[in-house]
Amino acid sequence: MSESAPGEFAIIERWFSRPAGRADVVLGVGDDAAVLTVPPGFRLVAAVDTVVSGIHFLPDAEPADIGHRALAVNLSDLAAMGAQPAWALLSLSLPEPSVAWLDGFARGFHELAARFGVALVGGDTVRGPLVVTVAIMGHIEVDRFLARSGAHPGDHLYVSGVPGEAAAGLDLLRQGSVDSPQARYLKARFLRPEPRVALGRLLRPHASAAMDVSDGLIGDLAKLCAASGCGAEVELAQLPVSPAMSALFPAAAGERCALQGGDDYELLFTLPPAAAGELARNPDFARQCTRIGTITRHDADRPVVQCLRNGRAEDVAAGGFDHFAKG
Ligand code: ADP
Ligand code: MG
Repeated sequence: MSESAPGEFAIIERWFSRPAGRADVVLGVGDDAAVLTVPPGFRLVAAVDTVVSGIHFLPDAEPADIGHRALAVNLSDLAAMGAQPAWALLSLSLPEPSVAWLDGFARGFHELAARFGVALVGGDTVRGPLVVTVAIMGHIEVDRFLARSGAHPGDHLYVSGVPGEAAAGLDLLRQGSVDSPQARYLKARFLRPEPRVALGRLLRPHASAAMDVSDGLIGDLAKLCAASGCGAEVELAQLPVSPAMSALFPAAAGERCALQGGDDYELLFTLPPAAAGELARNPDFARQCTRIGTITRHDADRPVVQCLRNGRAEDVAAGGFDHFAKG
């Protein structure tokens, strides 16, 4: 027989009270609020993200994958600032709490937290529809953070990883049937996004602008351009190609995933040419990052993001995910 549904305080105690493992947590779970120490010479960086059943994950998603995702999307926001994550708050709205669900969710959450040295320092636990909100905090050196607004014409435009793999993985999950090593790889890219924290730290002193790609490459690039008051050219022939996607999708569908699919949680960033030359000699950088274009002046006669194929202009619908979009 399965254990009966635990109450609020039992849930907090059993699944979400863990030793902080960080000396900068003066007070963690258990009091009215957490008390944290920001190291001298650093600023506090904070972000919050909510994941909702049926919107950010499929209703039948594994609880461990939900726990991973809820934290991963937040870590990705800190990565995009060049920050070092340190602490998280977790607000959990649950329909009927089951021991098996909480076991899986807490495992996915705590495994990722441990991997990035993040302490869970508080939260809230309520009954309601399945909604998970994580607030993340970290710190960054006072002299420089990575905003969306710093790109200049002439900067080189880069992306990490292979954008589109997560959207392809989601497509395969919806189809349900395909099973092969490539299909498993792509599904994992959707289910288990890997926040690019180390890359953000590497870029922090060098990049002129950065953001994480969560709503689709072209749409997110348009946001970076708007924040920087610039335009951009993307050379489609330079987009990184995914062997797994090439095996399972026609090239045009793969390209659509890369440009418009969401959920990649890769970093999109710009480097002044001198910094690009210096970083290109770093093997960690070269392995993960691909130059896909150039920042341009904003020109009213052209789309903010102009796609090129082998140097010739090509129209690509902007797309991008918008929770409140009509139709
Ligand atoms: P309060 O009524 O003061 O808001 P709660 O009873 O909601 O306190 O929570 C008690 C303690 O447990 C607080 O320290 C809170 O931060 C922590 N907490 C509650 N839910 C969670 C959770 N899901 N994860 C981590 N900490 C939690
Ligand atoms: Mg509370």
